[in-house]
Amino acid sequence: MYPVMLHVEGQRTLVVGGGGVALRKVEGLLSDGAVVTVVAPEPIRGLVELAAAGTIELSVRGYRSPEAIDYSLVFAATDDREVNRLVFNDAKGENVWVNVADDPELCTFHLPARVRRGTFQLAVASAGEAPFVVRRLRRFLERRFGLEWAEWMEAAARFRVAVRDMALPRAEQEKRYDKFFANTVDTEAIRARVPSPEEEESWLGAPKTGVTSRPHVVHDQPRAQDDGVGFVSLIGGGPGDPGLLTLRGRQRMLRADVVVYDRLALTCLPCDLPAHVELHSVGKEAGHHPMPQEEINALLVRLGREGKRVARLKGGDPYVFGRGGEEAEALVEARVPFEVVPGVTAGVAVPAYAGIPVTQRREAVRVTMVTAHETIKSKGPQVRWDMLASDPAVTILGYMGVASLSEVAHQLLAAGMDPTTPATVIERGTTSAQRSVRGTISDLPDRVKEAEIHPPALFVIGRTVRYADSLAWFSERPLFGERIGIFSPGGELGEALELAGVELIDSPNPITPAGRVVMGALPLTGWILKNADEADALDEERDMPTWGREVIAWCMSPESAQRARALGWPRVNELDPSVSVEEVVAAVISGR
Ligand code: SAH
Repeated sequence: MYPVMLHVEGQRTLVVGGGGVALRKVEGLLSDGAVVTVVAPEPIRGLVELAAAGTIELSVRGYRSPEAIDYSLVFAATDDREVNRLVFNDAKGENVWVNVADDPELCTFHLPARVRRGTFQLAVASAGEAPFVVRRLRRFLERRFGLEWAEWMEAAARFRVAVRDMALPRAEQEKRYDKFFANTVDTEAIRARVPSPEEEESWLGAPKTGVTSRPHVVHDQPRAQDDGVGFVSLIGGGPGDPGLLTLRGRQRMLRADVVVYDRLALTCLPCDLPAHVELHSVGKEAGHHPMPQEEINALLVRLGREGKRVARLKGGDPYVFGRGGEEAEALVEARVPFEVVPGVTAGVAVPAYAGIPVTQRREAVRVTMVTAHETIKSKGPQVRWDMLASDPAVTILGYMGVASLSEVAHQLLAAGMDPTTPATVIERGTTSAQRSVRGTISDLPDRVKEAEIHPPALFVIGRTVRYADSLAWFSERPLFGERIGIFSPGGELGEALELAGVELIDSPNPITPAGRVVMGALPLTGWILKNADEADALDEERDMPTWGREVIAWCMSPESAQRARALGWPRVNELDPSVSVEEVVAAVISGR
């Protein structure tokens, strides 16, 4: 295989086929300036719209042999292998380059997967032999190469012209290129930046001997003086249900330059966060340790000093066991202005979703939020368990307490708490993964071990835990536990599904980097597909670990079902597009 980059601008290209794959080919060609003709007896809407806008020429009919020979580049993407073969033979016979989608034998060239950053492109190819690794590599590169590489490439092109104009000897030219590269690219972190005009000026000047170039890590340079001071919003994302994020929290993220988020906040990221908003995870991710608090503080200060608008997203509320206070202190010290956008804390929301009111007239008139974790670690009596034990009207909300629950129960019982006091532990409350275990303060620790409850989990001790059955509403919903995606706008159907208990991922198409984080946060159980394009749009996402074999394609049209099957979805359920929203929900309930 011999790689080339073709100038397709102004070239006549032919696409035979009218489905989602054809549309994607057409879009790729158009974005590089090709003149596109499409031949298809039943083109999908996207193609018809392009034709109506005069962007492509569309012939609504079958392929007429040997019309392929009139073009310089030909693609066939029909679901009829005979037609594809005919197109291939016609083209090949006249040395016209031809590619048949998903059929390596019928190709005189293959298309690499590509990552585009302006004129800078990375291409990944496997000669059609292992497209699955190609897709994964592309996604990996897509994540690693930020959007700044586009601007960087433009700057590089300008710099080259400037160097050329100086008409220097070859070796002198190379020295200047080295300077540009060494100072603008951090090869370790795979980051690039656009140099200032002054920097470029200095690199173009006569090289001074004996002066070493600047340190290699370039993206860390403080730019505070140039850019003015930024602003940090410490935002509470709520306990997990994406709908519990506040309006202000959402607004701040959508307008931020960078969002710094924790592991507990994954499901609260807005799926429609624009792709240019930089995402910065400081939580534990596969193979990485969470960033130490001091480093997070320093990161926020640095971003603030660079003049950035920073949205610092945390689970629950930033000041409730979230170490938000420490971050605020660091910002005050560094004179970076900030605000706090409170969030719905787990202690209030998680019991509510489990049917437990945290106060109740005459029964529970006091609420205590405690972290058991600290108490056990630091030997001193930070939490007065004895006082809590002697107060029958208190509701105890225990954060970070799974590991220390036995110790807490022991201390409470030793201090005289009624051993029949109801108690519960709720794991991943308010999400599709919510689970809970209930008992009394005496037997709960054993039950929790048996049920293998894992963090994040909250324990609740107090009289009102007994309401968990009579006031249950969340876990009673017919579609509780389902986590289903829909492309925006989800509209009435989205709302109806959510009311029926679905944790809905309302994602724009194409999927954003934030949308990917959300998708990867918890296992998915299904996706609503309105048309074949939507199935195509998910094709590259489906090898994420949260896309298990059980994920169902809920197809709202025959073409989407056909496409989902062709793309290898293990479970495809076709819904009648003419029925009402309620009927669709009923079908989902009975069909899963
Ligand atoms: N700032 C957060 C708490 C952070 S400490 C807030 O206000 O909610 C982390 C602890 O919060 C977890 O160990 C757990 O006890 C609790 N927690 C957070 N989200 C939770 C959830 N969805 N379900 C149960 N507990 C949760």
